[in-house]
Amino acid sequence: MSSGIVLAHARFELPLRHVFTIARGSVAVQETFIVQLGEGDQRGYGEATTNPFYGQSIARMAAAAERVRPSLAEATTDDLDATLGRVAAALPDEPFARCALDMALHDLAARRAGQGLAAWWGLDRSRGPVSNFTIGIDTIPVMREKLTAASDWPIYKIKLGTSDDLDIVRELRRHTDRPFRVDANCGWSADQAIALSRPLADLGVEVIEQPLPPGDPAMAEVFRRSALPVFADESCAAEGDVDGCAGRFHGINIKLVKCGGLAPARRMIARARDLGLAVMVGCMTESTVGISALAQLVPLLDHVDMDGAALLATDIASGVRVVAGRATFPDRTGTGVELLGGALSTTSRADGT
Ligand code: MG
Repeated sequence: MSSGIVLAHARFELPLRHVFTIARGSVAVQETFIVQLGEGDQRGYGEATTNPFYGQSIARMAAAAERVRPSLAEATTDDLDATLGRVAAALPDEPFARCALDMALHDLAARRAGQGLAAWWGLDRSRGPVSNFTIGIDTIPVMREKLTAASDWPIYKIKLGTSDDLDIVRELRRHTDRPFRVDANCGWSADQAIALSRPLADLGVEVIEQPLPPGDPAMAEVFRRSALPVFADESCAAEGDVDGCAGRFHGINIKLVKCGGLAPARRMIARARDLGLAVMVGCMTESTVGISALAQLVPLLDHVDMDGAALLATDIASGVRVVAGRATFPDRTGTGVELLGGALSTTSRADGT
């Protein structure tokens, strides 16, 4: 018997090893929202980082989580689908908060079942792709330094959308023979994307992520004429976006914060497979809390980008470690997360109220 699910949440700062820059801005310290859900003597954890591009602040996520506190107090992870459904119905416009709650509910349910989450889903976590390491935009010498400092990773994702994208890739190629992916984060025109695709392919790039802004009708032409597969990221935020990617993209990059967590991500993966789309799951610059949840999905994926915690100067949790692209799972149930500072007080609130 359960006496309900107890909600606590907290704000943490994640200092980055290097200032991280993409086509639309830079960040040195990432704020993150951590949810802890308790049921009986078990606790589950989830995470969503703040994101000004998507209007997501700590205050907004904390307020959203507070809206479901009363219904969680009457819920149980014994019926996970029903509880996830209640949270989703109460927070239709709050995918980031939903993501943190969804991860924590999954973690809690698997812990209460005494299993790792992937195993609880029936997945073999020894299977699946290795992760890329992401290199943010910087001067070319600094990007080269970041690459050589991460020389043990098997694949690199290079952020582009600058005025010298080909020079960047040519220079990085001089220092490794491992595969590259590139992510323009909406920074190209259709003509640029098509023109760059052939030389990038010749430089050992395997995938172009999000060349154009979402909704750009020229994406269908890029899809037809690109020498490389194109993946949707900003164009495929939520479950309802997957169908529209067929005929415009070869694959999708799912972000748990944008779609609302693990349950919607699994539905998106299934739908993408039906449509013949390849599937990648990507991370934000986030802690081991979020990465440990994401890592449970890897057996379902073609590609994975889960280097988020590897970009941090200091982490806030132990759990799944991603080293040189490979995940190492701790001998724990659920997602395996424990906060380094210990469990949150049950009265903890991220917005300090
Ligand atoms: Mg991306």
